[in-house]
Parts: sequence; structure tokens; C-alpha cells
Amino acid sequence: MSNWSSTSALKHFQMGETIFSEGDPGDSAYIIESGSVEVAVSVDGQPFPLRILTSGDVLGEMAVMDTAPRSASAKALEETVCVAISSRQISERVQDADPVVQLLVNTLLHRIRSTPQIASSTKSNIATGLQAESPSEDNDKVLDKMRLESELQAALTNNQLRPHYQPLVNIQTRQILGFEALIRWFSPTRGHVSPGEFTSIAEETSLIIPIGQQTIQQSCRDLVQFQALCPDRPLFISINVAPRQLAEDDFLTNLQTVIDQNRLKPAQIKLEVTERVFMEDPVALETLQRCRQAGFHIALDDFGTGFSSLNYLTRFEVDGFKIDRAFVQEIITNQRTQVLLESMLAMAHGLGMQTVVEGIETQEQLDVLQRSGCDIGQGYLFGKALPFAEVQQLLIQEAAHNPIRV
Ligand code: C2E
Ligand code: CA
Ligand code: CA
Repeated sequence: MSNWSSTSALKHFQMGETIFSEGDPGDSAYIIESGSVEVAVSVDGQPFPLRILTSGDVLGEMAVMDTAPRSASAKALEETVCVAISSRQISERVQDADPVVQLLVNTLLHRIRSTPQIASSTKSNIATGLQAESPSEDNDKVLDKMRLESELQAALTNNQLRPHYQPLVNIQTRQILGFEALIRWFSPTRGHVSPGEFTSIAEETSLIIPIGQQTIQQSCRDLVQFQALCPDRPLFISINVAPRQLAEDDFLTNLQTVIDQNRLKPAQIKLEVTERVFMEDPVALETLQRCRQAGFHIALDDFGTGFSSLNYLTRFEVDGFKIDRAFVQEIITNQRTQVLLESMLAMAHGLGMQTVVEGIETQEQLDVLQRSGCDIGQGYLFGKALPFAEVQQLLIQEAAHNPIRV
């Protein structure tokens, strides 16, 4: 796997400092955050300036895209700060692109590189830096995404990602049965970054693999501590797992190693997957099947949204449904939603599955759900996702006044 070692996404260059030289390997590209950079090629031993790049421009991406040596040099013209974009970030995207786009990109790069360097009228256009000719909103969005991804990679290395835990409770008694591990990132520069935002970037790239592995390790270690405060019943932990993680050969072996190290039982781990897993990589589905055979529980997350083609349920068994919070939001105001929700619960029970309803925020919603025979509830009414120490306090409190009233 590629290089996860960088501790900061930001690189500082002094005035006159070389960022890269002709012939260097293309190990990363850069987005210029501040300052300016001169890109030059050497002609008869003399530097021939091609272009000056400034804030918002991308630099050095070509050598990373086609893994050829740098065809130009770049040096900072003043104090310059760049965000480094790793070769992994770029090469993964090229590999994931439509094969026709890949072919076109490779042809284009080949053409640019084979353009004679001397006396070329197009010379000034063959910059090894890409200048946003007309900075558009789309460009800005792409650059923002690449920046966030670089920072996320550094956050992983610097241990800035932590799971928080949201209680999953018995819907009748409100007793805590387990927790969903929900990842949190507090960035020194951005503050709290929404998990919806950064997990989708992580899932688009292979970053979700080390992030997911860290979440599994940490949440299993924490579950052992929670269990110690709750000796009367087994607690479980629900972990969100993306198809890309399941497509890794060693996913199950790693999971088993972690639970063995922590002396947990597979049934204490629920893997939350969305129905995407049935539509994407067949290898991921195979791994999921092997996880289930090994005793891990599988819950279908965000059930009732998406494509909801139920056909896959005839071929693949899961242990539970998590009914999306969109249904709970309308359960009081919309009779049809209530009927739909009750039908989903009946279907799940008919298939011998456990049901979790997420997003319960009010007592009124809980009253309806208690009557409809749902098993487990999750939502702000019972508690938000809490850091480790607060979960410990909650369990101590619950042991003192059982059942809890959060
Ligand atoms: P999700 O798996 O559907 O997680 C439930 C989300 O609903 C969480 O948002 C949770 O805080 C929120 N939620 C829970 N109860 C309520 C409620 O009563 N009202 C409302 N309005 N929201 C509620 P969060 O933590 O922002 O996570 C968003 C998404 O990020 C998750 O959705 C999941 O798809 C993803 N995610 C979080 N942690 C991980 C992770 O470790 N791995 C992966 N692959 N994805 C993760
Ligand atoms: Ca989930
Ligand atoms: Ca969900």
C-alpha cells in the first residue's frame, strides 16, 4: 500500500527553494495555497522558465499521473505554502476512471511529453503545472476535496480520528444493549468536520481501509472497557463497513485477530453495511458472507432508502435491518409513513431479523414505535454519539438507576 506516513498535508518552501527537479520521480503533486512557483525546463544547461503559478494552481501532477520522471523543475519564488497531494490520491482516481478517459489521459500525457522541448511554439503551453485557466466553481470544489483528502490522511497518521459511541437501546425498557461506533474528526484547522463529508471521501478512495481498521481496533478495545462496567449482559458494538474494506483479502482475518486479542465473541460485533454492497464488488459480498458464517452479525443500514430492490434478500441472509431515520421523522405526521414502517418491521420479523429504528428524537415517536413491535432504538432521545469517557459515565449511571432515562 502507498505512503501513509506524511504527518502534515502542508509543505512550506523558502524563497528560492527547489520543490522538485527535472528527472526526479513524481511522488506527489501540490496545490499552491500561498506564494508563487516558477516552473522551468533546462535548455542547453540553462533554465528556461515556462510559467509562474500562484495560489489555487496545481503543480507537478503529470509525473504522478503517468509515473514518468519530472520533465521540468519547480522552485519557490517567495515563501510558499502548498498542500501535498500524494501519488496514491491521483493514481487511484486515474485507475478508477472510465477506461476511455484513461486512454485519453495517457495519450494526452504522451503527446505533451513527446513535444520537442526546443523551439516549440507551444512550449509555453506544456507547463508541468496546471493553471486553472478560468477558475470555475467546479475546479474549486475538486481542489477543496483534494485538500480535505490530504488533511484526512495526515489526521489518520496523527491520531486525530476517534470513534464516538451512540447508544442502541431496548425499545421497551430503554436499557442499553450496545453502541454504534461513529467516527469523529477534530481538525486543528477546520474544527469538527462532518463525518458525512469526510467518510464519503474516505470511501471513494482506499483511505477508508486504514481508517476502518483503526475504528475496528479502537472500538473493540473500548467495548472491553464498556463490558467491564456491565457484567450482567453482553454488549455489542455496531461498526460501519464500506464495500471497499470488504473487498480487501485480509478483512476477515484482521477482524478475527482483533476480537481474539480482546477476547470478544463475533456475535458482539455487528457490521453495518448499506445495500450498495449488493450492487458493487462481488468480492465484498463474498467477504460479508464469510463474516456471517464466522458468527459476526450483519445489519442492513439506511434500510428503506436507496434503491430498495429486495431481490438480494432472497439470496443473502442478514441478521437485522436499520430503518432509516427519514421514516421516523414523519411517523407522527404521515399515516402512510407509519404504515410503511410497520410493514418493514413485519417483513423483518417474518424473515427472523432484528430491527433497529434510528433517529428517534421524541417521546411521541417512541410511543408509536413501542406499539409497533420494533426491537432496538437509536436516536437523540436516548443519547448522541459520546466520547469514550462519557460512555463509561453513562454505563455507571445506568447500573445505578436501571433502566436509564438519558
Ligand atoms: P449512519 O451510519 O446512518 O449513522 C447514523 C447517523 O445519524 C450519525 O450521523 C448519527 O449521529 C445520526 N443520528 C443518530 N441519531 C439521530 C437523531 O436522533 N437525529 C438525527 N438528526 N441524527 C441522528 P454521523 O455521526 O454524522 O454519521 C454520518 C454518517 O457517516 C454515518 O451515517 C455513516 O454513514 C458515516 N460514518 C460514520 N462513522 C463511520 C465509520 O466509522 N465508517 C464508515 N464507513 N462510515 C461512517
Ligand atoms: Ca450506520
Ligand atoms: Ca443509518
